[in-house]
Amino acid sequence: MNPPIRATSPRRLAPSKLPAVGTTIFTVMSALAAQHGAVNLGQGFPDFDCDPRLQQAFADAMAAGHNQYAPMAGYLALREALASKQRTLYGHACDPHTEITVTAGATQAIMAAVLALVAPGDEVIVFEPVYDSYIPSITLAGGRAVAIALDHQRGFAPDWDRVRAAITPRTRLIMLNFPHNPTGRCLRADDLRALESIVAETGVLLISDEVYEHIVFDGQSHCSIGSSALLARHAVVISSFGKTFHTTGWKIGYAIAPAALSAEIRKVHQFMVFSVNTPGQHAIAAHLDDPTTYLDLPAFYEAKRDLFRAGLADSPFRLLPCEGTYFVLADYSALSDEPDDVFARRLAIEARVAAIPVSVFYECTPRPRDVRVVRLCFAKRDATLNEGLRRLRAFAAR
Ligand code: PMP
Ligand code: GLN
Repeated sequence: MNPPIRATSPRRLAPSKLPAVGTTIFTVMSALAAQHGAVNLGQGFPDFDCDPRLQQAFADAMAAGHNQYAPMAGYLALREALASKQRTLYGHACDPHTEITVTAGATQAIMAAVLALVAPGDEVIVFEPVYDSYIPSITLAGGRAVAIALDHQRGFAPDWDRVRAAITPRTRLIMLNFPHNPTGRCLRADDLRALESIVAETGVLLISDEVYEHIVFDGQSHCSIGSSALLARHAVVISSFGKTFHTTGWKIGYAIAPAALSAEIRKVHQFMVFSVNTPGQHAIAAHLDDPTTYLDLPAFYEAKRDLFRAGLADSPFRLLPCEGTYFVLADYSALSDEPDDVFARRLAIEARVAAIPVSVFYECTPRPRDVRVVRLCFAKRDATLNEGLRRLRAFAAR
């Protein structure tokens, strides 16, 4: 018989599962903004409210007693509304019963999908700059991220030849995010064709984070991975109402995937959160009845992008093209040679405008120290944008 174990002190903490991870840059920059009274153009969230009808629908759902657990996969009327929206907008046929799972935002959908689909030793292709949650999700699943840099000289277009060359027998999936945070790059029909040939040849799976699907400018339409039947058969398509309905604090999103993949994702989902808040799902399902709630979004944000661009037109800041998302990259090389993290810190303290240094989105490929850009968020009231612009111009004119 083993002798009894008598603990005299707590057992040592196991080695960190995420040794390279600290506090996210969004939290860091928002704290710095608060500390210095900076206009917060860093963390991506609107500073204006969501539609009052949506708030009322949430309150109505609570008053009607929808306050207990929702079904594990999500409120059925919401999944049905999503299936209908996918079909209408993208020709993406998906079964609301077996192929759509409502999640606690896109972040949880990404984590659940990666944990469900990636086995230890698998390789996962990501594009850098990469959204901050992807590589930690891959690491927790025991996988290895293989990063391909989006080249700013090519307008951050994905290089499919490099993707093809990076695929090995260990490659499980490719993670995509278009419209792309932070570069604003969108996919074209050609990109889908290139990806189709890669998927047809290799059978690789896809996770497509499309949280900015309704924020695409200049008359372009969003090229969803779901719009290709071949890609949809291999893909988990993820989106979030945080961006679309100005409700980042509600944390409601979803993952759409073929039934066999969805079944695995749900196994993880049910033990991460089980289900997502019920009245919020009711409110969103009702709101989706009116398609203008999302179809009007491009014009709304395009006006803000243009206001922002016009405000810096005669300044030393040079704004890069922004095809979608509510972020724009600002090149500050005419003002400073500092690396972007140093510059962003100084901008928050001296200009009192918070921005996100783009180098934080590079973990595997070399941080492009010679590219002097910071990310600015224009999902703000015009008054906030105008004040931010005034401060940026004053800083640049010193
Ligand atoms: N993916 C991308 C590319 C994002 O920018 C964000 C947040 N802005 C998310 C995922 C997370 O979305 P959510 O807040 O719904 O978790
Ligand atoms: N996705 C948002 C951004 O890119 C931030 C989300 C967060 O703070 N986790 O700014």
